[in-house]
Amino acid sequence: MEANQKEKWSTLVQVFDRRTILATGAAALAGAAVEARPAAAQAAPKPIFPHEPVTIPIAGESEVFPVRRIYCIGRNYAAHAIERGSDPTREPPFFFQKPTDAIQNVAIGTVADHPYPSLTKNYHHEVELVAALKSGGSNIPPEKALDHVYGYTVGLDMTRRDLQNEMAAMKKPWEIGKSFDHAAVLGPIHPASKTGHFTKGAISLAVNGKVRQDADLDKMIWSVAEQISKLSEAFELKAGDIIYSGTPANVGPVVKGDVLLCKIEGLPDMSIKIV
Ligand code: MN
Repeated sequence: MEANQKEKWSTLVQVFDRRTILATGAAALAGAAVEARPAAAQAAPKPIFPHEPVTIPIAGESEVFPVRRIYCIGRNYAAHAIERGSDPTREPPFFFQKPTDAIQNVAIGTVADHPYPSLTKNYHHEVELVAALKSGGSNIPPEKALDHVYGYTVGLDMTRRDLQNEMAAMKKPWEIGKSFDHAAVLGPIHPASKTGHFTKGAISLAVNGKVRQDADLDKMIWSVAEQISKLSEAFELKAGDIIYSGTPANVGPVVKGDVLLCKIEGLPDMSIKIV
């Protein structure tokens, strides 16, 4: 009896081992088959509706710049910091984001219709230099920061000032004042390989031919290089990120019918009409 039992156990163990080996072998084979399959054959799951990537035209190129994130710096010119009620000394810079699909591309030599947004009665212009990144990283030192810039353009950080102020007064996020449809207006990107980097030069905005904002890029509290460096401490920057580098003083309201003309020395003008 004892010998019989031993035999049974031995048979069971053998069967178990064979099954384990077979299963393991099958899994290994399956794994090998998946790995061996060419990447193209592994189609990504199909989206349930189409979703177009957001891009910005590049001046003089047939290729476009794909946008990943929109960063904006707040109060980066001393005179504007004062008009917004803060201390213009070199406090640490602060940043906010706009949604990528808030971009409104404006072609050179056109006056693009820009819709007056909902909910506001105090819609403000903020003309700004915009830097577009071709690469990124974390903790980028300022002296290396401009190596990551692909190019520049003229932008408008359009702002529902009343909503921004109301939210700020309640110590709530002012997203509704900054991050709405069409709030990130800009012209085509000009490669830095052609324009060089922008550390100085006139920046201005006129409404219906009357100059309102008029300053020089060298009046930025934090340069574009320093902004990239500071941003990269808080976020890993990547190719496709763009940065609105702050607006000079004399921001102000626009109404339907107004034509805005934005100028930065070394870049073509950018113009919109509020409709
Ligand atoms: Mn701004």
